[in-house]
Amino acid sequence: MREALYYKKEPLFRVRCVLCPHRCQMHKGQAGLCRSRVNQDGELMTTAYEEVSAYGLDPVEKKPLYHFLPGRDLLTYSGNGCTFRCTFCANHMISQEDAPTAHLGVPELVELARRHGAAGLAASYAEPVVFYEFVRDMAPCAREQGLKNVAVTNGFILEGPLRDWLPSLDALKVDLKGNEAFYREVCGGQADPVWRTVRIAHESGVHVETAMPLIPSLNDYHEDFDEMVGKLAEISPEIPFHIQAYTPAHRMSVDATPLEDLERAYEAASRSLKFVYLQNVSGVPDRQTTFCPDCREPLIRRDGNRVLENRLKEGQCPRCARAIPGVFS
Ligand code: SF4
Repeated sequence: MREALYYKKEPLFRVRCVLCPHRCQMHKGQAGLCRSRVNQDGELMTTAYEEVSAYGLDPVEKKPLYHFLPGRDLLTYSGNGCTFRCTFCANHMISQEDAPTAHLGVPELVELARRHGAAGLAASYAEPVVFYEFVRDMAPCAREQGLKNVAVTNGFILEGPLRDWLPSLDALKVDLKGNEAFYREVCGGQADPVWRTVRIAHESGVHVETAMPLIPSLNDYHEDFDEMVGKLAEISPEIPFHIQAYTPAHRMSVDATPLEDLERAYEAASRSLKFVYLQNVSGVPDRQTTFCPDCREPLIRRDGNRVLENRLKEGQCPRCARAIPGVFS
């Protein structure tokens, strides 16, 4: 536990957290919506600091990041808590519940990453914004060892903390969930701050990819989907977009996404975006392949989270020399 960043002291020992758009006000002894920031005698403390609820070595493709050091692993770690309440969360045991944690310090995690030959560390599984101080302190320590810093986030963060965070990041994967109503009713959040995060992160030069779970009858309406893809294309058509097959989880019992819905979404998104992928499906290898947008040469072939072949030459198509956005060495 340590004092949190980004909060204001208010009269009568109240505090207001200004890390994410919820801007929780807490009386003495109360926790914020994310459950990991607590008012202790008029000071805001983060209970998630160096308290790890899950960690493991994952392929970078699992994040999913397809244009960031293909084929390498990331030491992935998480605390408990989330700023959202998604009823379909596959990681609800740590995002919505207080799972047991182990005290693992920044240097220990960096050493684990180094010892296992990881390319870097990824804050993921639950929401990194709620263990923000932990992630921020990890970054310089990781960089000293030549390791990258990655975060997998819902993007729900205020502009100041985001801008302060970005210089320490090498890659950011932002989840896109649906339209404004979906964010409010199914996730307990808002869409606009998430779009602001994608735009600011992209403009900052950090490598950004996006992903969206396609949930039948909830966020797969054509107009909404097309509008979302259009918004992303306005920021940049070069930002990779992963459409994820949803399977029932947590409190959501809607049937899993049929392949034909995923294919339809893939076709629609590919009309505006240059790099579209299908995730969590098998038997459609082309949908996990990176093609050159100009000459259609297959560049990186994958099977699930495994890279089968990488033909990029210094980040360019070997046939027409078109530059492919991302970090490849
Ligand atoms: S980070 Fe947590 S405590 Fe802070 S405003 Fe967001 S939900 Fe509330």
